[in-house]
Amino acid sequence: MVEVEHLVKTYGAQQAVDDISFRADKGEIVGFLGPNGAGKSTTMKMALGYVPPTAGTVRVAGFDVREQPLEVRRRVGYLPEHNPLYLDMYVHEYLEFIGGVHGLRGRELRQRVAWLVQRVGLTREQNKQIGALSKGYRQRVGLAEALVHDPEVLILDEPTTGLDPNQISEIRDLIRELGENKTVIFSTHILPEVAALCSRAVIISRGRLVADAPVAELAARA
Ligand code: ADP
Ligand code: ADP
Repeated sequence: MVEVEHLVKTYGAQQAVDDISFRADKGEIVGFLGPNGAGKSTTMKMALGYVPPTAGTVRVAGFDVREQPLEVRRRVGYLPEHNPLYLDMYVHEYLEFIGGVHGLRGRELRQRVAWLVQRVGLTREQNKQIGALSKGYRQRVGLAEALVHDPEVLILDEPTTGLDPNQISEIRDLIRELGENKTVIFSTHILPEVAALCSRAVIISRGRLVADAPVAELAARA
């Protein structure tokens, strides 16, 4: 579903991403593990077409992100690391706004928002202002936003960073459920996160891929 081949990104003299290749198939949750500054966000942004690669290709469902970025974005939901939310808006209102941006109107929009609210567990919070929600619930709003166009692929940048243990376990449960019929790629700098969620881990350090292996295999090596 997602094929990354020989991806490179250079900023001045710095190789932020240095020849990274991996693939993620449907029903897979792939953990993208590496310390801060390893190149995780840059790789994700290149996969979405937000950052142009210096070299290499990304294909989603066979579409090259540089040739057909809209075809790619239609299939990918993205949760950025620092998701800017409108804190004054009500959850329901915000998701209607996001649905509207994606071209949904009328009954279809109402149904989609109702589905999203239920899907990410925001039923009791939907009439609250986003600014009044805990970080964990704000992250659910971000996940709902990423799901609004019913994408086949989810790219989540550090989805549990800054959450408390309870919130982390709830967001993990959600990601696990979503991964059942989607392709999920999420980044983290915490190994247990990968162990808890993923079938496969792609480990990067200083822009280079250092391992791409089933989690069980990595655990056995450690
Ligand atoms: P991670 O997500 O793993 O923390 P990033 O992809 O954000 O890592 O960053 C990888 C490296 O690239 C870092 O050294 C970062 O400082 C650098 N970098 C990222 N974006 C830019 C940019 N727009 N301009 C210059 N350097 C950048
Ligand atoms: P139905 O299949 O009867 O339309 P659903 O509850 O499956 O009922 O869907 C209700 C609404 O939610 C529809 O507008 C549908 O397009 C939308 N929807 C269904 N699945 C997803 C999904 N994974 N992500 C986003 N929206 C979805």
